[in-house]
Amino acid sequence: MEVDAEPKTIAKPRGQSRRRFLHLAAAGAASLAADKVSLAQGVASKPVGEGGVVDVAIIGAGLAGLTAARDLRRAGCESLVVLEARNRVGGRTYNHDLGRGVVSEAGGQWIGPGQTAIADLARELEVDTFPSWYAGKSVVLAGDARVAQDFHGGTGGDETIGARLGELARGVPSGAPWKAKDATALDKLSYGEWLRQQGVKYEEGYFLALAAKLTLGGAPAQLGLLHYLSIINSAGCNYEQLEAFKGGAQETRFVGGSQVLSIKMANELGDKVRLSRPVRKIAGWDRDVVELHTDQGVIHARRVIVAMNPALCDRVVFDPPLPQGRAQLQQNWPASAPMRKTVHVYEKPFWRDAGYSGMVLQVGGPIFMAYDNSPPDASVGVLAAFVAPGMLPSDQRAAEQILSSTYAKAFGAEALKPKQFHDHDWGRVDPWTLQCIHPLPPGFWTTWGKALHPAVGRLIWSGTETADLWAGSMDGAVRSGHRAALQALAGLAQRSEVA
Ligand SMILES: Cc1cc2nc3c(=O)[nH]c(=O)nc-3n(C[C@H](O)[C@H](O)[C@H](O)COP(=O)(O)OP(=O)(O)OC[C@H]3O[C@@H](n4cnc5c(N)ncnc54)[C@H](O)[C@@H]3O)c2cc1C
Repeated sequence: MEVDAEPKTIAKPRGQSRRRFLHLAAAGAASLAADKVSLAQGVASKPVGEGGVVDVAIIGAGLAGLTAARDLRRAGCESLVVLEARNRVGGRTYNHDLGRGVVSEAGGQWIGPGQTAIADLARELEVDTFPSWYAGKSVVLAGDARVAQDFHGGTGGDETIGARLGELARGVPSGAPWKAKDATALDKLSYGEWLRQQGVKYEEGYFLALAAKLTLGGAPAQLGLLHYLSIINSAGCNYEQLEAFKGGAQETRFVGGSQVLSIKMANELGDKVRLSRPVRKIAGWDRDVVELHTDQGVIHARRVIVAMNPALCDRVVFDPPLPQGRAQLQQNWPASAPMRKTVHVYEKPFWRDAGYSGMVLQVGGPIFMAYDNSPPDASVGVLAAFVAPGMLPSDQRAAEQILSSTYAKAFGAEALKPKQFHDHDWGRVDPWTLQCIHPLPPGFWTTWGKALHPAVGRLIWSGTETADLWAGSMDGAVRSGHRAALQALAGLAQRSEVA
């Protein structure tokens, strides 16, 4: 997929595909309530070779950017390019290769009920799914204490609190929390403060805090209540559906790992995907043709889909500067929400034979949650873990040993001899993620939320953070890609009206 030359000369879409492009452009324009659009002259631009301008440049080859590119292509728009900073696609999805066709996901991995956009994409790409393994007893470790309990795929949290959260979440639109009737009051509180007001006892508090950390990457004291409610709203206002394995967002995995979705899309797109092309500067976003300055030359485009999180957008130079609201949203978006995931590989998932689920929760230790991440045929046993940043040595061997002996406390001495160990610290590996999930603080949405969606000049904002539903998840990324493609088609259609 890597080519060095500028995008190739691309013919206008013709016949059936051209009609389809126009049809979809019209649908896109209508659905976005754009100004009146005339499609009489078509929307296809000059081929790239003529003037070297692409219709659409997409920044970021994660799920959002690749979905947008795929939609545009399927609508007949061939004049596009995807610029990716890394030397791989998939962004926050990344497969650890364990050999013999087995992978363990270092980033996003689970999907669940209601996440229909990513499920549909997987079906189209012929990527199968399989149920996550959670049967059996989980082990909670606290100092020398060890408790084994079957959570039956649930959260171990508090039903009353779950019901109250659900009730509040009903009034908070997932894609625009700042529009909630009580937005100002709700956004003053952190989730931690709210829990205190509910008189939550320590035991429930532990599980509730763990759930928030795993879902949103932040401790309750750092998380805005309004933000958390907007995410719960995506899950049908059902807190349990957000946090659980059984019937929840952790229920299902992809055969071959989640990154395979991006790899397949990139393969379809061929040389339209350009790797190792970080965009450093975007000039002339207020003009008809925008300049994208990469480490390997300048790309000119009529529309730009920016498919990366707002904190990363803030690393790009905009000339002229962005309007104040958008610039401040980017500047204040949390730029650090590190997550470290480790993988122990064993001969087989031996804990299952003894009636354990593979889940380990450690109070006051480095493990937030370890879980069985074995492949569907259980040909090897995989224990993956989310570990607390800063609580485990960065030295790989030392980290592996500490975790192995913790697993031995949970499941016995067999855990001391993993065949492989992998470690992916998203906070340290590269600068192209910055934050895994977005733990927005109190006050964020009501101050800057309004600037999240509106296009700025020729720039269309995408990426999971901009999704109307399931923001922060892989499903949200796909949804945001679909929406951005429609916005780009609508914009090009409008352009044709005045041509
Ligand atoms: C540890 C972890 C666990 C997770 N678990 C889950 C889960 O179980 N389920 C779930 O649904 N979600 C999960 N997520 C979240 C999910 O992975 C993301 O929401 C989703 O992958 C985001 O996709 P995206 O396309 O919006 O952004 P990204 O994947 O971040 O893609 C953005 C792309 O833009 C590129 N880029 C950045 N800056 C530039 C630049 N200047 N120029 C060019 N390219 C640039 C990046 O390299 C990247 O490839 C998890 C994430 C992490 C990290």
